[in-house]
This record gives sequence, structure tokens and C-alpha cells, in this order.
Amino acid sequence: MEGMGRATLLIVDDALESIAILNQILGAEYRVLFAEDGLSGLELARRKQPDLILLDISMPGMDGLELCHRLKGDPTTHSIPVIFVTAKDQEQDQERGLRCGAADYITKPVSPTLVKARVATQLRLRRSEEAQRRAQKLAAVGQLTGGIAHEFNNILGIMLGNLEFLEPLVAHEQSALRRVRSTTRAALRMSRLVEQLRDFSRLRPIHSQVIDLNAVITEMYDLLLGSVGDEVELVLQLAPALWPMKADRGELEESLWQLVNNACEAMPKGGRIQIETANRVVETFDPTIKSGEYLRLAISDSGCGMEREVLERLFEPFFSTKKPFGSGCGLGMSRIYGFVQRCGGTIRVYSEPKMGSCLQLYLPRADGSLESPQ
Ligand code: ADP
Ligand code: MG
Repeated sequence: MEGMGRATLLIVDDALESIAILNQILGAEYRVLFAEDGLSGLELARRKQPDLILLDISMPGMDGLELCHRLKGDPTTHSIPVIFVTAKDQEQDQERGLRCGAADYITKPVSPTLVKARVATQLRLRRSEEAQRRAQKLAAVGQLTGGIAHEFNNILGIMLGNLEFLEPLVAHEQSALRRVRSTTRAALRMSRLVEQLRDFSRLRPIHSQVIDLNAVITEMYDLLLGSVGDEVELVLQLAPALWPMKADRGELEESLWQLVNNACEAMPKGGRIQIETANRVVETFDPTIKSGEYLRLAISDSGCGMEREVLERLFEPFFSTKKPFGSGCGLGMSRIYGFVQRCGGTIRVYSEPKMGSCLQLYLPRADGSLESPQ
């Protein structure tokens, strides 16, 4: 997964004109926060969790070196990259700056193009580290859930087999029959839950075929339209000559259903959902996706959007912000994650609180032709 909306930069500098210069260079592309002294910079960094900090060295009170030291020693700000932007241009200044944990060092007066390039590089590195960390976490959780689902499935098989055997034997005894049947219903419910957990892990059996994604969406349109209600506008924007993809069709339909459902639930007062397809050639340094040809299925909504904490945990099984928390709740996105992984693709999420979200599924182009399902 890759995130999110515009990156946030924090500039800490006691000279307002320096802040103004950096803001002029970076303000169009990024959300910029600033602080005029070390202490308020530290407080702002803790509270706002910016994606990158641009830090002056010579400041009255807490100077840039000390602030960098504190930022690196605090677990809540430790991983935020720091770039020194300073008039101190001696070699030993640079060395001290880099030794206290800064990712880069830029001397004033700054070159706008180089500042942009160096900021972009640090942000890209951080994004890819975060993507990798999230992927590793989800892989570990996936292995655990897969293992549990597999064992539970075997045990449930035995229980359901025995219940089936018992039912005719107690047919004459009403209260016993009721109990056997209610136990069977509970075991079947649990089977369903175990199946959903398995969708997140790698253990799910795959029945993949070559698929025309546009056709699947068009066929589901009426069903989706019926589910979103009158207050929600559902718009399709399907690319002509879309490449074929390969997937388990049931899983693809289920994913689309869940995505539209989530979008809809994010807009209790109504709004607009757009389903869009496109051919995309991806060239990337992102370790969670290979360069190559992909179909991009994007679902955008004008709903409540997601806070950073939600984005961070979006794909964890049983993570949900919805109440009441019932059976199967919080498994939608984790199952979609499993599906996209099995396809060899990735998910990108762009979301702004109160503005809306856009979830993009990148699914690899298949070699086969659409006429020959295998
Ligand atoms: P559930 O829908 O059962 O809560 P999901 O796994 O489908 O579980 O989603 C997990 C959480 O992700 C949701 O509770 C919600 O907070 C958030 N979420 C998912 N999609 C969207 C969206 N389109 N807009 C806002 N929040 C979303
Ligand atoms: Mg859901």
C-alpha cells in the first residue's frame, strides 16, 4: 500500500524571511507548517507528525542541533526525516548535523530546484520504508490468521460432521433437536468467519481466469446502484480498450462490492462515488510493487475521508471504526488486501479527512485474451 494525501512539511527557523523563501519553493506542492523557535518546533512535530522537517541550526534558545537530537530521541518523532537548511557552511558543521541524525544538509542561500529534489527524495524514501514496514506487518498477521483459519477449519469440519450425524438420532426429541440445530448454525457462522479470515492470508484457494474488468463492473452496476440508495450518485468511467486481467472472479466481485459499500458508509448524507478503470504503466522504486503493466481500478468517494491512524491500520483484520462492531466487521479491507496480493498487485490509498477517499487497486495485466477463459 502506498499513502495518502499531500505530504506535510514542518519548517523550523527563527528568521521569517527564510521560512517565506522555503514556503514559496515548497508551498504549492506540500502542506507547510512552521515554527519560529526550537521548542515550539518540537511541540508541533509531536502533535502534527509531519512527513519531513526542514531545520535551521542557529536559533536562540534551543538550536537546530539540539532539536534534531531531541526529535531523534523521541519515539513519536524518531522516524521523521530532518533536513538542515542553514547558513553554516563549514565542513565540520555539516558533519555535526549529519551525525546527530539528519538525513540531509542544505546550505543557504538555497537553490529552489535542489531543495525540491532533495525534499522529494527524502519523502520517497520515507514512503517506501513505511510501505515496506506495513507490508511486513501484514505478512506476519497474515501468517497467523492463515494458520488459525486452517486449524479451525479442520476442527469445524469434525464438529459439523458429528452434528449432521446426531440430528436424525434426536429428531424425536424436540429440545435436543433444537440444540443440535442451533449448534450447527453457530458452527456454520464460524465457518463463514474463518473463510473470511483465510481470504486475508495466502491460504485461500484461487480459481483465477482471464477477466474483462469493465464487463464485470457493467454487469454489477444495477446491483451496486440498488445498494447505494437514492442519495448517492454512482458514476462509471471505464477506459476503452482496457487490458485483460487475471483473477478469481468471485473475489473481484466481492472486493468491488466491499469498496462501494465502504464508500457509501463514508457518506451518510449522500454524495458521489466514481468507479474508474484505466491502463497504467508503472515504473517504480517502491519495493511493494514491480514495474510493469497494470489495470487500475479506482473507487473515489466524497465521504468523510480517513485520519492518519485509520490509514495506518486500514488493512488489519478486524480493524473497524464502525459501530456496532458485529460479526465479520472490519474484515472488508483485509480481504481486499489479500485478493490484490494474490493477483500480484498493490493498493494505493489517497484520503483527506472531510474531503473523501480514493482507493486504487493496481492489478497486473494478463497475457491471455478475453475470449479464452482458462
Ligand atoms: P468495516 O467496513 O467493517 O468497518 P473494512 O475493513 O471494510 O471494515 O474497513 C475498515 C475501516 O476503514 C472502516 O471502519 C473505515 O473506518 C475505514 N474505511 C474504509 N473505506 C473507507 C472510505 N471509503 N472512506 C472512509 N473510511 C473508510
Ligand atoms: Mg467494510
